[in-house]
Amino acid sequence: MASATPVTIAYGDGIGPEIMEATLRILEAAGARLEPEVIEIGENVYRSGVSSGIRPEAWESLRRTKVFLKAPITTPQGGGYKSLNVTARSALGLYANVRPCQAYHPFVATKHPQMDLVIIRENEEDVYTGIEHRQSDQVYQCLKLISRPGCEKIIRYAFEYARAYNRKKVTCLSKDNIMKMTDGLFHKVFDEIAAEYPDIEKEHWIIDIGSALLADVPERFGVIVTLNLYGDIISDIAAQIAGSVGMGGSANIGDRCAMFEAIHGSAPDIAGRGIANPSGLLHGAIMMLVHIGQAEVAARVHNAWLCTIESGIHTGDIFKEDVSRKRVGTQEFSEAIIERLDQMPNFFRAVSYLSAPAPVQPVNAVSRTRQAKELVGVDVFLDWSSGTAQQLGDALSAIDTTPLQLKMISNRGAKVYPDGLPETFCTDHWRGRFVVDPAAGDIITHGNIIQLLRLLYEQGFDTIKTENLYTFDGAPGYSLGAGE
Ligand code: NAD
Repeated sequence: MASATPVTIAYGDGIGPEIMEATLRILEAAGARLEPEVIEIGENVYRSGVSSGIRPEAWESLRRTKVFLKAPITTPQGGGYKSLNVTARSALGLYANVRPCQAYHPFVATKHPQMDLVIIRENEEDVYTGIEHRQSDQVYQCLKLISRPGCEKIIRYAFEYARAYNRKKVTCLSKDNIMKMTDGLFHKVFDEIAAEYPDIEKEHWIIDIGSALLADVPERFGVIVTLNLYGDIISDIAAQIAGSVGMGGSANIGDRCAMFEAIHGSAPDIAGRGIANPSGLLHGAIMMLVHIGQAEVAARVHNAWLCTIESGIHTGDIFKEDVSRKRVGTQEFSEAIIERLDQMPNFFRAVSYLSAPAPVQPVNAVSRTRQAKELVGVDVFLDWSSGTAQQLGDALSAIDTTPLQLKMISNRGAKVYPDGLPETFCTDHWRGRFVVDPAAGDIITHGNIIQLLRLLYEQGFDTIKTENLYTFDGAPGYSLGAGE
């Protein structure tokens, strides 16, 4: 018999301990070969003064086992506590969040009985890097960071997942009609990588119409790959319309580590009453079993769970008089699953994970030759509230900034100088775009920018930040201001 796999386990808060006990009991009865290492995370750890909610010795366990089965935790209200999930994802390089969303009609209420899709959400980048600044009295900023290796990893993972799990189509969702550089990169890399998978259908939708289609006709989707924020939002919508927020599992996959959990929270309102539905964590655990190469045990547990659901044995959250046969608590539900470990579902299609390679290994990000990068200007952001756009433009134009020239001023992205409209609302947060004279074909150095900033400082301007303007192989690496 194959040896047991070390797995780090956290019982979490609220209903966490109840659903973890139930899950582990089912896994053990199914013959899962696990060597659990228990760590404490969550509320007690936060309250003991550890702002991340996880102690150093717990990290050691995670780095040793590389597999984490995590029950939900309670993040205490109030400032200073960091999201444990966000910390774990970035520290362990868990770049892919995988959330299957499936309908279990008619046993679980849904308007979309045929729905069966998987959302693969980028997990490390986008506005979730947490780089935010207040730059003036009126204006706050959040930085959206998208990298080419980040796009390549998640998109390749989505195609590898589709191939491994025999899914026919991968859909990319982005907002590249507006964010032409960041979301544009995601879409471009999607097209590049899709070309390597001719056996899989591919499509791209702008996130707004894509989300509308998801809410209306979810059965048309197979695998959806998208950026972090959109993925966060649409995965809750998908779980909700599938009827399975309380039952969905989630995997966070990295090259070296992986974390598995339920998508719901710690449900403090029902904690300790023995009525919680353990299905969400159990689905997380099933994904874990596939990941660690125990696919046959995963299928056994999943099929026994399907048998239990179609037998009408339901916890209170999904119990319905007309389709349910028996309302049970957490323990009785898990016993019903254990009793059915050697059965196959009749109503639902039986699950087989045997054909799925576990884990799905993404190929390393493509190595590319670096493009020639030239500095051609700078955007200088100013905190200024002493007059109109025209007055600011006149004041900046009066300074000799050669070789840089003031090209335009924008306020919250809208061009307001030269030739701005009096209707444009302006805050105290301005951007002056300084570029070299294109006719001269010049490029500049950082020294020119430092000189410009010195001149602005001497004239009493409050520079709050700068963004260098580069070209890459001659193509601008910056967007034009609206109306520029
Ligand atoms: P929640 O998911 O805990 O609960 C929402 C509702 O669903 C509640 O009425 C709850 O009773 C019910 N519910 C959830 N899971 C259930 C289950 N397994 N069986 C039966 N009913 C279930 O969301 P919330 O109330 O917004 O959050 C509670 C706490 O959980 C917060 O502290 C939040 O920060 C935390 N949380 C943690 C995670 C995580 O650890 N991954 C995720 C989400 C929320």
